[in-house]
Amino acid sequence: MRVSATQELKLFGIGASDGICIGQAYLVDKKGVDVIKRYVIPEHALANEMNRFKTAVSNADDELHAMIEASPEDLRQHVNIYETHIALLKDKMLYGRILAHIEKERVNAEWALKKVIANIKLMFQNMDDSYLRERDADIEHISELILRNLVGAKQENIADIDRRVILVAHDLSPADTSQINLERIMGFITDGGSKASHTSIIARTLGIPAVMGLETASRKINTDDIIIADGTQGIVIVHPSEKTILFYEERQERYEQHKAIIARDCNITAETSDGFKMKVMGNIELPEEVVAVRDYGGDGIGLYRTEFQYLSRHAFPSEDLLFESYKDVVEVMHPLPVTFRTLDINGDKVLRYSIDNYHEDNPALGLRAIRYCLKHPDIFIVQLRAILRAAVYGNVRILFPMISSCLEIKETQRLLDEAAASLAAENLPHKRDIEVGIMIEVPAAVMMADVMAPKVDFFSLGTNDLIQYTLAIDRGNRQVAHLFNPLHPAIIRMLKRTTDMASDHNIGVFICGEMAGDPLYTPLLVGLGIKELSMSPFAIPIVKQTVRSLSFKECQQFTHDILQLTNATEIFGRLKEKFGGRHYQDADASEEPFNGKTA
Ligand code: PEP
Ligand code: MG
Repeated sequence: MRVSATQELKLFGIGASDGICIGQAYLVDKKGVDVIKRYVIPEHALANEMNRFKTAVSNADDELHAMIEASPEDLRQHVNIYETHIALLKDKMLYGRILAHIEKERVNAEWALKKVIANIKLMFQNMDDSYLRERDADIEHISELILRNLVGAKQENIADIDRRVILVAHDLSPADTSQINLERIMGFITDGGSKASHTSIIARTLGIPAVMGLETASRKINTDDIIIADGTQGIVIVHPSEKTILFYEERQERYEQHKAIIARDCNITAETSDGFKMKVMGNIELPEEVVAVRDYGGDGIGLYRTEFQYLSRHAFPSEDLLFESYKDVVEVMHPLPVTFRTLDINGDKVLRYSIDNYHEDNPALGLRAIRYCLKHPDIFIVQLRAILRAAVYGNVRILFPMISSCLEIKETQRLLDEAAASLAAENLPHKRDIEVGIMIEVPAAVMMADVMAPKVDFFSLGTNDLIQYTLAIDRGNRQVAHLFNPLHPAIIRMLKRTTDMASDHNIGVFICGEMAGDPLYTPLLVGLGIKELSMSPFAIPIVKQTVRSLSFKECQQFTHDILQLTNATEIFGRLKEKFGGRHYQDADASEEPFNGKTA
């Protein structure tokens, strides 16, 4: 490896996914089209400039047609919006005016586009006609599309990177991250984000190191710089010296060895010394991750985040495509269960081919998950039918996200019946008699748990969102990441209430939020009597091992005592004091031979 002569530099962030990687940086620059400059076009070049604009519009037109083509037949009505955009592209008010502006003002096409769009938007805003006012978002959309084609800014495609690198980005969306190819991407680091974001969750599922919340990394690192990303400590070292590389290579090896030792016992049941059995399952985002769940001894799939299959595409998947991939997962896991969490679109997981035409100021509190699906039942039904068809091939459970009222449960059950009835009418093999559960991740659901329990077969606690919504902390916001704490007494009390209500009504209660995969919390969760945890596949062996090291009775007493405490620091201290030594800690982490300067 080429070692740089430049002095090494250490950057501090948030350890988002464990492990260490050492290699060349690859800067993902997403700022492409932000800055538009005005320049004058000489008379003789005007025709060329106008043609450049016409070509950009024609390419944008091709892109929109391709998106329509890629949409499945049964969801074609949702691509009306693209038809509207195609019509707007050639609208005289826009197309004609921009060409006239280039010619008359002798300016570049980008500038003319910006000026004309600004005028049209102003005009729309002052109109009484609500239809026209609502076209504002369409205008914005096509303006971006033309602009991208004008400046030739390619949509950065992570899937196209063709060498082994560590990604460096200002930000990565969950959709970007879902394109990561493990043969090429060793790990990633970002300026924004936090440990609870979906982007970091994917890193953990993929088992690659990630450091987030670095603030300035994308400005300080260039493509091809040698960097070390330490996802366990949340540290990045740029231009490391030979000595530092050696030190980290040794740590990397120790970490891998430790993982291998724990993984050796991963198929042994997770049972406490006094006979309490815990099912330890895996969370997956994409069908191919199912292999890791099997390899690491998972007792099933406790959370299949099905929206990622939608996020990694350019158009809605068809029912047959979903069915085939669901069937594969169900067959690989058979006879172990696969829990399909229905689409949790929006919040930070926005589709590229969104069919809605509005802007949300607070997307986490917006039309997300079950709300989105109930607003678009035709999209929802396609997925429900695919799940019911796949259920014929194994052990399937269905899980509805972000439930906050009994009405939502009623409506989802009705749609599930409707999906089953339509399959029956078409004589398509399917299974309706499957377990139906809800995510408990909105405080309202905790408060209503007693009323909701008799209506469903199980609860699955989504601690990531439960913490976000209970403590009013945006889970992706770096500024409040330090406040995101599963040990906040309010959260522990909510877990207690939910498990009590589930046990009163004799239904299952599981945890599939990230809290389940941290062995530090395992004694607390065992003490609450939770019998199933689901986590990133790589965490399964250590959590199983931790369960085996515990006594249920001792955990119950401990949890009882913890519930009397009123502050998170004290609870953390007690956990560390009593159980802290039972999971992996890198003893040498604080002995780095670091002599560079701190950012
Ligand atoms: C959760 O909220 O805890 C959860 C498991 O779902 P997600 O992280 O996908 O929102
Ligand atoms: Mg959630």
